[in-house]
Amino acid sequence: MAKRKKGKGRRRARRAPGGGKRPANQRPKPAAQSNELRRPGELPPGFHVMAKPAGPSCNLRCEYCFYLEKHALYADAPDLRMSDEVLKAYIRKVIAGQDIPEIVFAWQGGEPTLLGVDFFRRAIRFQRQYAGGKKITNTFQTNGTLLDDEWCEFLAKHDMLVGLSLDGPPDIHDLHRSDRGGGPTFDKVHDALELLQKHRVEYNVLACVSREAAHRPLDVYHFLKKEGVDFVQFIPIVERTPGARAKQLGLDLGLPPDTKEVQESEAVMPWTVEPDTYGDFLIAIFDEWVRNDVGSFYVMNFEWALTSWLGLASTTCFFERRCGRAVIIEHNGDIYSCDHFVYPEYKLGNVLTDDMVSMIESPGQIEFGALKETTLPQYCLDCDVQFACNGECPKHRFVRTPAGDPGLNYLCPSYRKYFRHIDRYMKVIANLVAEGLPASNVMQAFEGPLVIPGSDVVHDLARPEDQDPT
Ligand code: SF4
Ligand code: SF4
Repeated sequence: MAKRKKGKGRRRARRAPGGGKRPANQRPKPAAQSNELRRPGELPPGFHVMAKPAGPSCNLRCEYCFYLEKHALYADAPDLRMSDEVLKAYIRKVIAGQDIPEIVFAWQGGEPTLLGVDFFRRAIRFQRQYAGGKKITNTFQTNGTLLDDEWCEFLAKHDMLVGLSLDGPPDIHDLHRSDRGGGPTFDKVHDALELLQKHRVEYNVLACVSREAAHRPLDVYHFLKKEGVDFVQFIPIVERTPGARAKQLGLDLGLPPDTKEVQESEAVMPWTVEPDTYGDFLIAIFDEWVRNDVGSFYVMNFEWALTSWLGLASTTCFFERRCGRAVIIEHNGDIYSCDHFVYPEYKLGNVLTDDMVSMIESPGQIEFGALKETTLPQYCLDCDVQFACNGECPKHRFVRTPAGDPGLNYLCPSYRKYFRHIDRYMKVIANLVAEGLPASNVMQAFEGPLVIPGSDVVHDLARPEDQDPT
């Protein structure tokens, strides 16, 4: 059984059911304010407002970025930097609007480091000013290229949980993550990884899975392990080609499907992962992980799945039954329904003029959240893995079911095979966790029958599935 390694840069971990920690990254993001576990259908105790303090500004030009194009929505703005007035109002209203003991602030972009460390020093000051006895924590998603010793000292000092965007080894990472001149960025991001480790900043890696990366799961996995990374989440890249409305808005990528309407086109951008290879990617990594690395390497995708097998609500909005509790604030205080729905029709108001709770609990936002569940096609309602998938993000629901119904997720073939594949193993892990035993004991079941004390169940993963006594 693998032991937890004393990896470089390990700091305290925030635990999820299988032992993993909450991701810093936002795509997919925690739907709730905390990773408190809930029964399916229970509303999160608070809400989550992810900040884009530099708007869509970024020093890189990653080909698949879905946020750079949002410059078009702020073409007339003289400065895409959050003012202190907006920053203060944001912090004050997020804290005051939630009657919960811990408030998490998530900083994202664009690239938040463009604002400089002093901006975040002021943010911490305002958080202390308005905390009112609540515990405040911060998460910070970055491409890493501007991190230096000063940044890392600051991030470590304030216990900020950093999400570092790193797609894998150089030939995978540099395929789509380039600088403004089209040059590679891997070396700078790798330097950032070493700096985070040197300063013992709590971090995890967000690895995007493009069309090409999906064919190299174990190259990505072994690379991250070799680099001393302990926590990773994999995010599938799915973007559509722009239609007439997107072009009218000056955008380069297709709009999310209006969940109330039939879609016109299923065409995707060339780097979009294929509908079923993302599932193959996850399965290949899962098979490696479940045999060798449970308890020593944390893949958030597997942690999210485990909550479903434990009968709990998902800790990521992607697999929640409903959306609507995770909004975003742009640099100028505009609030939108979700990071994936930053379009004029999804603007809820502005933090300077509107009440935060009223925006999040407005009829339009409640309907936005409910549509995720109420527009599921019959194909999903009949699906044996709906409890884990829930049709994933509505942004990706732009294909038709075999019966011709609209609203099926583009990644459905991936999720069907992935969730079905992990079922046998997740049952063992869920059984262990439910009995208060380490999830890592699942690896013993590959060597012969595993008896779980307290539950009369015997698992034997060494046998073919049809001969497993489970
Ligand atoms: S796997 Fe496919 S059919 Fe099943 S819930 Fe997910 S999207 Fe729907
Ligand atoms: S639309 Fe829903 S599932 Fe998709 S990112 Fe937003 S909150 Fe999450």
